[in-house]
Amino acid sequence: MSIRTLGLGENLREYLLSVSLREPDILTLLRQETSLHQMGIMQISPEQGQFMALLVKLMGAKKTLEIGVFTGYSALIVALALPSDGKVIACDINEEYTSIACRYWQKAGVSHKIDLHVAPAVETLDKLLKAGEAETFDFVFIDADKSNYDNYYERALQLVRPGGLIAIDNVLWSGKVADPAIEDNRTKKIRALNQKLHQDERVNLSMVPIGDGLTLAMKN
Ligand code: SAM
Ligand code: CA
Repeated sequence: MSIRTLGLGENLREYLLSVSLREPDILTLLRQETSLHQMGIMQISPEQGQFMALLVKLMGAKKTLEIGVFTGYSALIVALALPSDGKVIACDINEEYTSIACRYWQKAGVSHKIDLHVAPAVETLDKLLKAGEAETFDFVFIDADKSNYDNYYERALQLVRPGGLIAIDNVLWSGKVADPAIEDNRTKKIRALNQKLHQDERVNLSMVPIGDGLTLAMKN
């Protein structure tokens, strides 16, 4: 995992941030608090957050789905990018992490835009499908447990509208995907999904080397 873009030297990353990062104070505060958390490394990088917010605005997205909330940075930056009647359906299993998220969403004045579901995300996604919400989402961000990535992707593909975007995080997995000597389960799952997406004609594809690698898959 990486809270900064892989492969960018420290000087160049500092330069990039100094000339492009426009992080609202509330997100800087959340990043500071999360950096003290023992799992703080799970947070997305601020340059990735800003990129995702730009995509959401560019698409005119209104209804989005987030799988993997942690302390709420990605959901918050997306919620801030949405119009006042926009929605983020946010999924996580951890009450402790998401209580921090809720505190910041409230402070930022976007709580009304975020519906948090604390449950295994596969269950929440199946409920959404059962409730008739297939093809109603504009944007989906997948960033939870890597062993379920393919389950999340297949459900996201049903939930997103044609022309909608699925963004999948950590696809470069700190470089481990490119090292054949590494054979742990999570690395294998990410590698398998990367290979599957390369051939998947249901989507338009780009793998962006921002943060820990972000695949963008637009549903045809
Ligand atoms: N997007 C977040 C951010 O911007 O800071 C980081 C998400 S973190 C990498 C992954 C999250 O997935 C954790 O908060 C964890 O509790 C959650 N998670 C793990 N297994 C899950 C599951 N089966 N269903 C839902 N969430 C899960
Ligand atoms: Ca991530």
